[in-house]
Amino acid sequence: MALEKVVLLVGGVGGAKLAYGLYHAMPPENLTVIVNTGDDFWLYGLRICPDVDTITYTLSNRVNKTTGWGVADETFITLETMPLLGETPWFRLGDKDLALHMIRTQYLHKGKNLSEITKHFADSLGIRCKIVPMANEFIETKVDTVEYGELDFQEYFVKYRWQPTLKSLRLAGIDQATLNPIIQDAIHQADMIIVGPSNPWLSINPILSIPGMRDLLRSTHIPRIALTPLIQGQAVKGPTAKIMQEMGLSPSNESVIDYYGDVINGFVYDERDHQPARSLETLFSLDTLMDTEAKRITVAQNLLSQINDRIKL
Ligand code: GDP
Repeated sequence: MALEKVVLLVGGVGGAKLAYGLYHAMPPENLTVIVNTGDDFWLYGLRICPDVDTITYTLSNRVNKTTGWGVADETFITLETMPLLGETPWFRLGDKDLALHMIRTQYLHKGKNLSEITKHFADSLGIRCKIVPMANEFIETKVDTVEYGELDFQEYFVKYRWQPTLKSLRLAGIDQATLNPIIQDAIHQADMIIVGPSNPWLSINPILSIPGMRDLLRSTHIPRIALTPLIQGQAVKGPTAKIMQEMGLSPSNESVIDYYGDVINGFVYDERDHQPARSLETLFSLDTLMDTEAKRITVAQNLLSQINDRIKL
């Protein structure tokens, strides 16, 4: 019997590539995408959820395909007006994007939770899979840096373009977070869990740190397979390899596998790399570079068929 129901854990731009591939490689109704919200923040009174929005824009085909985030054919009149008022914006919020943040914030003030609001947007935009934020509670990643001390995540990532040297990470509010029943149900019903190629430390660890999440995943007797975030020891985009080095780790598949520990029982490394020296139930290679929309779908198809073939054996 084919493994049909898939739960995918992701962050933003890198994760969205695999989310897009899976969405088009399988019946989207069988896909649940659990998204990091550890980089959420408030700006100009608005709640911004960068990763949830990247997934939503990608799966509704509204994303800016050049950047991989934000909305296509965007205008920035609101932002460009701000310097006249003495404000120098450092986070790029387009006018169309602002509409979503305004509506979300209004719903939050009216008492709706983030997963209800995310579902409302997905339904409005015609998305046919489930997109679920990792938690409804507000959790903030804080980045302790050599140069500036502790920074809010978006200051580190966007304002300082992830150039400061990372000392450590902290998830403020994580202890108060609760496992969303929608996530519990999706994991209980899943035939496989896929950990996207997202940054393990910045995007996946916040999801795994929700109290009870690691135990829930470990309690399942299904494939739990991570797709490598590194190709030939380098990130395709972003600071994954850089922060691994800053934390004293070699930027290798083995470091990623060790970091995930027994949360995963399988790993897919890139075909350009050697086989990691780790024993896992499922370990195989693919061309994991998703540099076109067609290749995202091919990677997802290959991933699903390889997992299916191996489980049948
Ligand atoms: P962010 O939240 O926008 O920073 O994005 P993610 O955390 O979801 O993804 C960043 C990670 O995705 C980085 O480690 C990249 O190396 C990885 N990534 C991006 N594109 C690809 C790709 O085509 N193939 C693979 N294997 N990894 C990718």
